[in-house]
Amino acid sequence: MPDPLDGLDDHRQREQLSLLRVNYGETIESARLSRLLLGFRSQKGIYKPAGSPYALWVRETLRGPYPDQEPEYRPDGTWTYRYSPEGRKGTIDMSLDTNRALLQCQEDAVPVGVLRQTSAGRGSSAYEVLGLAYVAGFDGTHFLLRGEPIEWETFGPAAVPGFPFRPFEERNPRESLEWRQLRDQRFGVVVRRAYHERCSLCEVGYRVRGRPLGLEAAHIIPVSERGTSADVRNGLLLCRNHHALFDAFAWAPDEDLRVHVAEDAPFRESAAANCVLEWEGRRLPNLPEKADLRPAAEAVRYRLNEFTQFWRY
Ligand SMILES: [Zn+2]
Repeated sequence: MPDPLDGLDDHRQREQLSLLRVNYGETIESARLSRLLLGFRSQKGIYKPAGSPYALWVRETLRGPYPDQEPEYRPDGTWTYRYSPEGRKGTIDMSLDTNRALLQCQEDAVPVGVLRQTSAGRGSSAYEVLGLAYVAGFDGTHFLLRGEPIEWETFGPAAVPGFPFRPFEERNPRESLEWRQLRDQRFGVVVRRAYHERCSLCEVGYRVRGRPLGLEAAHIIPVSERGTSADVRNGLLLCRNHHALFDAFAWAPDEDLRVHVAEDAPFRESAAANCVLEWEGRRLPNLPEKADLRPAAEAVRYRLNEFTQFWRY
């Protein structure tokens, strides 16, 4: 299936949606968004460019008039998000141009960009770009927005995929570099969200001006040319130190997600001040609360085996 953005006649709409697509998961300051995004400076809520039948983007503000809900993520990086329609005097009015423009997007399967405010205040307002979404329905109180899947070939915009864990993915040889980067980017974002932006081992996590810092999404089955899975279940969110130690086989989790630490005496001595030893034999303290986003047994077994092999001699 071809990229649905290629079918859009309005080149400005195509350009703006592409911009939102590649910024999936990025936190961007409002001042910059005002320069990048049509209508951002003047419009809150749903933005419909003049003369277009479609909405271009929707944004949720921190102290908006409508109750906010967290997006729900799936293992492949797709998500669903419930978004309130606009109203007049506190009552939903579906005849408003903006609401109708979103319904038109649903009718013609045209995606919209979705942004969510992460910090407010003078000079420090920022938004996270959730990415592109399709309007999947309206339930009487909210629009149901469904995040764009990355595997167009398999799923298309309307299908709801099942999610068997595949440790190695069969990559489409025609997949462009852009899509490959987008896949890696999604892996990072979904892992970050699933672990609530804190290291799985020491639970450290920082945010400066709404932007998360110091954390990295680690692949449990190491990255290789074979197409290591970009599924969140092949990931752990780690601070930079614990990621470096993980990559060097200083520690590894087992199938119960308990921490194994290398027996190597010089390493253990050097790590005395580090959380690794403190957590030896215990379960990783920070894991996704949804079981279907936690590390897959198959991935963890693979890693533990590599860890054992590494220290064999
Ligand atoms: Zn850590």
